[in-house]
Amino acid sequence: MEISILGGGIGGLSTAIALKQVGFDVTVYERFSRPTEIGAGIVCWPNASFVLEQLGVLDKISKVSGSLNYMNRFTNTGEPIGSLDINELNRLMNYPSYSIIRKDLMNILIQRTIELNINIHYQHDVIELMNNNFNTSVQFSNGKSIQPDIIIGADGRMKSLTRKYVNGSNAPIYQGFINWVGVFEQETADFSELSVSDYWGAGERFGIVPVSNTKAYWAGGVACEKISEINPNKYKSELNSLFSDWPDIITKIINETPLSRINKIYVHDHDPIDLWHKNNVVLLGDAAHSPLPTSGQGACQALEDAWHLAKCLKDNINDLSKAFTLFTQLRKSKTSGITMGGRQLASSIFNPDVEFCKHRNLASKNTNYQNAVVGMAKGWSSGLPIST
Ligand SMILES: Cc1cc2nc3c(=O)[nH]c(=O)nc-3n(C[C@H](O)[C@H](O)[C@H](O)COP(=O)(O)OP(=O)(O)OC[C@H]3O[C@@H](n4cnc5c(N)ncnc54)[C@H](O)[C@@H]3O)c2cc1C
Repeated sequence: MEISILGGGIGGLSTAIALKQVGFDVTVYERFSRPTEIGAGIVCWPNASFVLEQLGVLDKISKVSGSLNYMNRFTNTGEPIGSLDINELNRLMNYPSYSIIRKDLMNILIQRTIELNINIHYQHDVIELMNNNFNTSVQFSNGKSIQPDIIIGADGRMKSLTRKYVNGSNAPIYQGFINWVGVFEQETADFSELSVSDYWGAGERFGIVPVSNTKAYWAGGVACEKISEINPNKYKSELNSLFSDWPDIITKIINETPLSRINKIYVHDHDPIDLWHKNNVVLLGDAAHSPLPTSGQGACQALEDAWHLAKCLKDNINDLSKAFTLFTQLRKSKTSGITMGGRQLASSIFNPDVEFCKHRNLASKNTNYQNAVVGMAKGWSSGLPIST
């Protein structure tokens, strides 16, 4: 049984590891010449930590990441408007939460693929999938082609050719806001308490996630109707024009993060879809569902897919259609809910109406975060054998 995974991001690599661990031979094809690092960092919430433990990498991750305590919300003047206890979330879900720089997570996954002798072919840019009586063939821009028994579409959210093959359309939806993301590092310890700080303005937001007491990744966001040219030389002035009168730590982070460690992203997602497979091709990760960063769950859900798909294929290897249908059934409702939740939070955070934002902040202040943690733990644990 030859399994090919198209895309070597978090979803593709973790699926390769999960499949290899249950006995399948897998090969990964990635368009770039090295692993990709879009986005500065991620939080591996307890549901992701469960999968990372199953993949045999959680110990390594714990050594290069931050153990977060609280998720604190503030107004853009620094007034506290709510605090969620991450240790309580971890306790309810029975696994830790870790903040990690994306590059570190990718390196650990790559290291694990090397230990397991998984082949990754870089510079293999998929340009077309063709239907040949159930056995789909894949054409790469370098002239090579393959026709494996199973194809896993893990080619991300922006231009997924596997999504196009399965679903007919692959156009992502611009959700009306920009994120500048970066990694900030310094010698002095500004982040003595490892907690997320999330500042909300009117149509603007700045989030800081420490991974150690001297290092943090961050995202500055603003509502923006139209997509225009990206010019890295303007990043700092754009950020300063938005955030210069916000709390000092934000201006410090903007001014002291090297330009080479900042990216600007016009943030897109996809509507949930019902069909995740066609013939011998199945989608996962952002190619199947791509929640906004406001969900905090994009990479976590790609990891969950890896674990579920390996299990579905192992148990139903003689009936691919059954394996893929079961996988879709197991994953669709949870990922759709997370996508819609991410949109709802984004539409509130990036609402530029000052009166709306006053009420929103008050509602945040009056939220019962103890109940919110219980709800999050229940939702994020669903479908996984972890306790709540
Ligand atoms: C700004 C931003 C911030 C985010 N922050 C978080 C966060 O804090 N927490 C979180 O959990 N998630 C976050 N996410 C979401 C998270 O990054 C994704 O959900 C996750 O990376 C999905 O993994 P994936 O493997 O499906 O896709 P990707 O990581 O995008 O990987 C897709 C891979 O496929 C390759 N590929 C694409 N096209 C082809 C082709 N034609 N041929 C061959 N290879 C191809 C790409 O090069 C890439 O390596 C964020 C996303 C964005 C945009």
